[in-house]
Amino acid sequence: MIDLRSDTVTRPSDAMREAARDAEVGDDVHRDDPTVAELEARAADLLGKEAALYVPSGTMGNQIAVRVHADRGEELICERECHVYKWELGGVAQLSGVQPRPVDGGERGALTPGQIEAAYVEASSHRPGTGLVALENTHNSKGGVALAPEVLDAAAGAAHDLGVPLHLDGARVANAAVSRGVPLDRMVREVDSVMMCLSKGLGAPVGSVLAGDAEFVERARRVRKLLGGGMRQAGVIAAPGLLALENVDRLAEDHENARVLAEGLSDLSGLVVQEPETNIVLVETEGPASAFLDRIGEAGVAGSEFGEHTVRFVTHWDVSRDDVEAAVERVAEAR
Ligand SMILES: *Cc1c(COP(=O)(O)O)cnc(C)c1O
Repeated sequence: MIDLRSDTVTRPSDAMREAARDAEVGDDVHRDDPTVAELEARAADLLGKEAALYVPSGTMGNQIAVRVHADRGEELICERECHVYKWELGGVAQLSGVQPRPVDGGERGALTPGQIEAAYVEASSHRPGTGLVALENTHNSKGGVALAPEVLDAAAGAAHDLGVPLHLDGARVANAAVSRGVPLDRMVREVDSVMMCLSKGLGAPVGSVLAGDAEFVERARRVRKLLGGGMRQAGVIAAPGLLALENVDRLAEDHENARVLAEGLSDLSGLVVQEPETNIVLVETEGPASAFLDRIGEAGVAGSEFGEHTVRFVTHWDVSRDDVEAAVERVAEAR
């Protein structure tokens, strides 16, 4: 099976398995795990923030950020199709008592300063006030589009002018940085906090990092414990995460493979293919997406259903150029 369902399906490399076996560990809830500490320090450095926190998942990282930044009842300005709002079980309501104010970010899923100003609510005796703005880069539902750092700067500037912090759901921010040709710390320079997944294109088996200033990360550490995310000898999973941080530049290969895949598929009648900017390829199918997926699944290609007529393919380090070319041939025959 050529598995293009997600970049989360990657298996850890031999080097990652060895690193897990050999990791120096301690009880990380007591802050005794040197491998976790090293991962957090390196992630903070890479993202240009004062500190970082290792968390079990991207979802937990985002939810912690919302909880730290916003008070109960406050509003969260976010994009209508974003992960924090749409794909995290309503966690902002369940875990933080926060009320989302979703805004349509158009084809690129970006929020302009004007949209942020328009969505802002000032606290009063009737209104709860805006507690946080969240953005997503790359934007998953919009097909992995990579926002330029200036877009994030402008949104953060608008939020800060209103006295509101900005959190970036950067599950795939490394893909965005590589696609835009800027270092990660430049990409997230103006945001107050950023979550980055180690377990997606970067290839780690488990985990994400949440970075921000030292005070934010101290508060985030307590919320992580509250949510049951305090882990003991977590060096065993942080060690592969450290190796994952070295995989940023390699993402360019996934982007190139996505481009080859999109080009191949766009030659096939009955499919409309969105030109990829990173490792995600969205395809509109003439018939139902589920039936299309069944047919190509029998031919040995897996994708995921992303809408009634939309299929998502994601490239990653377990699929080679040959695999991607083979996938095009199999889809051509099976569709
Ligand atoms: C995958 C993803 C997350 C959540 O990460 P998990 O580790 O799966 O919980 C958050 N935001 C975006 C944009 C994602 O793609």
